Amino acid sequence: NLSATDDPFASLNPEQRAAVEHDVGAEAPRPLLVVAGAGSGKTNTLAHRVARLIQSGADPQRILLLTFSRRAATEMTQRAGGVLHRLFGLKGSQAQVTLPWAGTFHSIGARLLREFSGRIGLDDQFTIHDRGDSEDLMGMVRHEIGLSQTEKRFPLKGTCLSIYSRVVNGREPLDQVLQAFFPWCSEWEAQLKTLFGAYVDAKQEQNVLDYDDLLLFWAEMAADPVLGAELGALFDHVLVDEYQDTNRLQAAIVTGMKPDGRGVMVVGDDAQSIYGFRGATVRNILDFAGQFSQPAQLITLERNYRSTQPILDASNAVIGAALERHAKTLWTDKVSSIKPQLVLIPDEAEQARWVCNRILEQRETGMPLKSQAVLFRAASHSAALELELMRRNIPFVKFGGLKFLEAAHIKDVLAVLRFAQNPSGRLAGFRALQLIPGIGQATATRLVEAAGTSNDAATALEVFPVPARCKGDWQAFCDLYRRLRTPGLRWPLDLELARAWYQPHLERLHDDAQVRAADLDQLVALSGGYGNRESFLAEITLDPPEATSDRAGAPLLDEDYVILSTIHSSKGQEWNSVHVLNVVDGCIPSDMATGNQEDIEEERRLLYVAMTRARENLHLVVPNRFFIKQQSSMGDRHVYAARSRFITPVMLKHFEECAWLSADKRELRTPMPDSIRIMVRDRARNAWK
Ligand code: ATP
Ligand code: MG
Repeated sequence: NLSATDDPFASLNPEQRAAVEHDVGAEAPRPLLVVAGAGSGKTNTLAHRVARLIQSGADPQRILLLTFSRRAATEMTQRAGGVLHRLFGLKGSQAQVTLPWAGTFHSIGARLLREFSGRIGLDDQFTIHDRGDSEDLMGMVRHEIGLSQTEKRFPLKGTCLSIYSRVVNGREPLDQVLQAFFPWCSEWEAQLKTLFGAYVDAKQEQNVLDYDDLLLFWAEMAADPVLGAELGALFDHVLVDEYQDTNRLQAAIVTGMKPDGRGVMVVGDDAQSIYGFRGATVRNILDFAGQFSQPAQLITLERNYRSTQPILDASNAVIGAALERHAKTLWTDKVSSIKPQLVLIPDEAEQARWVCNRILEQRETGMPLKSQAVLFRAASHSAALELELMRRNIPFVKFGGLKFLEAAHIKDVLAVLRFAQNPSGRLAGFRALQLIPGIGQATATRLVEAAGTSNDAATALEVFPVPARCKGDWQAFCDLYRRLRTPGLRWPLDLELARAWYQPHLERLHDDAQVRAADLDQLVALSGGYGNRESFLAEITLDPPEATSDRAGAPLLDEDYVILSTIHSSKGQEWNSVHVLNVVDGCIPSDMATGNQEDIEEERRLLYVAMTRARENLHLVVPNRFFIKQQSSMGDRHVYAARSRFITPVMLKHFEECAWLSADKRELRTPMPDSIRIMVRDRARNAWK
């Protein structure tokens, strides 16, 4: 019996508690759906439920917890651990919960496929293609079957992959996908069909899987009567966060494994559905109740614990104007007199300066950098701000932007490992082999062929007649390759060997070898967190680490830094202060989306997601002029912009409008709060004491 202060469940409100207690201890917990607005404690409730289940005897090994990112999975595990800690009063390591099956759909899929590989005719040494690799393979196949030569206007490889991916994830026929989302490609339907067939063959031949395969094969297994039952029997509980952003395939995985919905609990918010462009559908939430052989329970939460009332009012106004109504009213008891700010600014350079000023001012008032975030629609929108932050030595970490792993030198080392893992993977082999001086495309192609078709890849390479001029380098590579293919090599020795082998090539290939070498050291440092080569390669491909301000890779964990994030990657998180950049038409809604009503509504939800990340301070910045990086042939350009259409004149009452011109124009119209002036003075004085 716990006192109220010890009872971690005492803080839950009645609806949250109902979700946490739902059928606890029952032989077959009925399927449960929690639908609720932003910041109402969905994720928190899920974490408490995990703890409650474990408390009541559930085996953590038999809980499948599916989240939006690896970070989210780790956070949720920690939160559940915290609750258990309070329940049992455990100390230190004892209180740690390990949930071996917590992760994203993709990473869990990769693990299950490896475990079941023998049963489904998959070679367990498969490697995973990231988006870039998948595009490249699509491009190669397109070239091989002659489409790019004969059909000059044929869609680009990236578009082809998007179409393919949409068909797979949405479980929709090609002609419908073309009609609905890619009408300008409809004339190519027959050729695309051929292309996709060849693409699938190529993946199989090379023993590689792309992101879509991880879900597709898992769904196929789940749909099989025997395998599906086996998969289902692995887990007593299947819990899914952010269910509004799952696609048809993901829903099929859940229903396939648990046809009766036993132990299934999902939480989501239809107003925050922002992955429609990748085939996610809110229908999964709407159809949830009727998907299982027993009816699902529904719980809604209406109290928001995150944001102040003025922030909620403004966010509710934005989402309230949506065409499709989301019947939820959020309330909070966090009163505040500070309205969200709508900051009008001449251009992006000023925007960057203003945001930096604000961030520093807020830090002076005691708000650490880590509790401040800057959000934007597209990764490229933060360029000016990044420069300004660097100029002022303000550390930052960027989520959802250019990933650490996209750097050439990191890709090189990983390609070597992937090629060792899976000699049939042509892209990795091609990349790795061409690092060797004297080996060009033609030789690499034949080498890849030789390695891929032999059942002893190391020997096949060794006996291959390479040009005489690369003998020494070639021998060194063959030695490395043989070692990397030695069974039972202790991880991360593989990575260390590959990295050491790469060093001279790094110095030869790059002027800034020193900086890049530091990145590679980071990669080696990261590797300790993974059990073996397969899981390292899979996990790092599926959920790459973020880029930081010092280009050194992994976040500087003990330092204070500002968070920069695309809105998409900010899902589920919260900060005391949130700045949203470029709240103008053309950015939110984005240029590309303008036109199609459904897309525009998704952009509205995106703005809603951004706004509801803020706890106390919210600033929407509206530059009058901004730069568009265009994908089309029109080139980049500067445009004059207007406030986003999602903030209509009637909504302005929810905001405090302020205009700002740079200091050199001597028109600083937002007065600096007194508190800051005093602190600055104090600091100046203290410096002499
Ligand atoms: P989102 O839709 O953005 O994912 P969410 O519904 O998952 O939001 P959480 O992130 O779980 O919301 O919770 C939002 C904040 O409210 C967190 O800081 C959480 O700790 C806090 N919170 C949730 N429930 C309670 C509660 N009963 N008492 C106090 N604080 C709570
Ligand atoms: Mg959440």
